[in-house]
Formats: sequence, structure tokens, C-alpha cells
Amino acid sequence: MTTTAEVARWIADARSVVALTGAGISTESGIPDFRGPDGVWTRDPRAERLSNIGYYVADPRIRREAWQRRADHPAWSARANPGHRALVDLERAGRLDVLVTQNIDGLHLAAGTSMARLIEIHGTIRETACLTCGDRRPMRETLQRVRDGDPDPACLGCGGILKSATISFGQNLDPGLLARAESAAARADVLLAVGTSLSVYPVARLPELTLAGGGRVVILNAEPTPLDASGHAVLAGRAGEVLPALVDAVVTRMRGTRPGVHVASRPTVEP
Ligand code: NAD
Repeated sequence: MTTTAEVARWIADARSVVALTGAGISTESGIPDFRGPDGVWTRDPRAERLSNIGYYVADPRIRREAWQRRADHPAWSARANPGHRALVDLERAGRLDVLVTQNIDGLHLAAGTSMARLIEIHGTIRETACLTCGDRRPMRETLQRVRDGDPDPACLGCGGILKSATISFGQNLDPGLLARAESAAARADVLLAVGTSLSVYPVARLPELTLAGGGRVVILNAEPTPLDASGHAVLAGRAGEVLPALVDAVVTRMRGTRPGVHVASRPTVEP
């Protein structure tokens, strides 16, 4: 079994490290995942339809329910947790090239991850996008219209259907963002997959690109994933506990091998 110390050595010695995060890194901030034991879809399989663009466009009842869920989304009151902050520390130690997140909750930015290194591959709940003209606006403006009594607000520019600026099942990912994520994964010496069931494609293919490029894949998740057998290490547990311990071990190792390495202080910007 590979130890945290060994994984820390791989990361400290790597030229390029990529982190891939999923809903599991935010459960300790109070945002449920989809497929974990307390996941939104595990508890209510019907909820999966709300994330399907075909149902959303065809059925106004689905849209009304989706707007209610957005208005009540736990992301509005959630705070970044030690898992998000550990990835900021890894970046500040110069050991994180790119952070690809499947999360739409904005908590990596809230923790202090730089915009330049972050790829929010499934979009963000903090903006709305018009499905017809593409107009984007802050989500809070549209949620105010919902709270003021409009159950399915239309685009103010063209009257088209609005939704959060997130990727639903049936929608294509932004090709530019996907290309950046794929090229980072393919050249990574280490890819750290945190809190993801690795079951949503094409993102779940990123660790396979790292393996194909000769890099190591480390899986940090509360439950087994389909990639556990082919990954180089599996660190089972809660991201908010395992990740800070791992990053501490990386920084300690770097201080030992490269005197003068220090972790800059981390500003916290909550939404
Ligand atoms: P998923 O629900 O498929 O899997 C989450 C995984 O995280 C599970 O295997 C679970 O066991 C694990 N997990 C839960 N809590 C954990 C913890 N504290 N530490 C470590 N592991 C933990 O999520 P996914 O792989 O990200 O894919 C689901 C899709 O749903 C993605 O597209 C994602 O964008 C979206 N989603 C996002 C959020 C969010 O933004 N916070 C929340 C729910 C779903």
C-alpha cells in the first residue's frame, strides 16, 4: 500500500501536478454530492432529470423546480473547507499547475485558488446563461426575480430560456476549457483526483490521459472508484482531513530538500 509520505514525495519532485476535484471536496462545506451515500440522486433519483437539458427545455415544471432549487442551493451560505484551502497551499508552494474542478459552487475561488490556474469545467452556479442568445448575468439578479414571484424568468435581452451557467447532461463542454484540461492532464507527472466518483465523462477520461502520458494518478475519495485498480495510489478518507495532511507532508519534504521554500499566506475571499 502506498503511503501519504510516498505520494508527498511524488508531488514534491514533480514538474507538473494537476488536481481534479469533484462534489466530494465540498460535502464538508455542507453541499451534498450526487452519488455518495447522502447524494442528491441517491436520496431522490427523480432529481437527476433536473440536470438534463432535454427535460429542462421541454418542461416548464422542471424549470420551475430547478429555479426553486437554485434559490435554496446550499452554495449561497457555504464556506470553503480545509480541503479547498489545502489546494491553495499546494499552489502557493509552487506544486499545483492546474486545478480542474467539476464543481459549480465557486468554493475553490472563495478559498483563494487563482483564477489563472482554475478550470471550472462544468461552469458556475454564480451566473445565468441564456440558451438562445448566450447573455450571461450574475445569478443573484435572476434569483431576485424568482424571489419577487417569477417562477421561470426569461432572458431580459431576447426572451429565451435561462439557466445557471453550468453544463447539464446533454450539453457540450466548452471546447477551449476541455482542451486546456486535457493537455494539462496529459503532461502531468501527478494527477490528484479528489472527491470524485470518476463517472462523468469526458472529465473522467483526464486521469487516463495522465496514465497514457506516463504520469502517476493518485485517488483521494471516500468510496472506491472505477480507477482505483489502475491508479498508483488510493488515499481513502475525507478530503478535508487527508488533503491537508498530504499537503503538509509535501511542504515539509520541500523544506527539507530545498531550503528557503515557504508557503505564502493565503487570503480567503468568501463569496
Ligand atoms: P459524485 O457525486 O459523482 O461523486 C462524489 C464522490 O465524492 C463520491 O464517490 C463520494 O464517495 C465522494 N465523497 C463524498 N464526500 C467526500 C469527502 N468528504 N471526502 C472525499 N470523498 C468524498 O460527484 P462528481 O464526481 O463530482 O460528479 C458529479 C457531477 O455533479 C459533477 O458534474 C459535479 O459538477 C456536479 N455536482 C457538483 C456539486 C458542487 O459543485 N459542490 C455538488 C453536487 C454535484
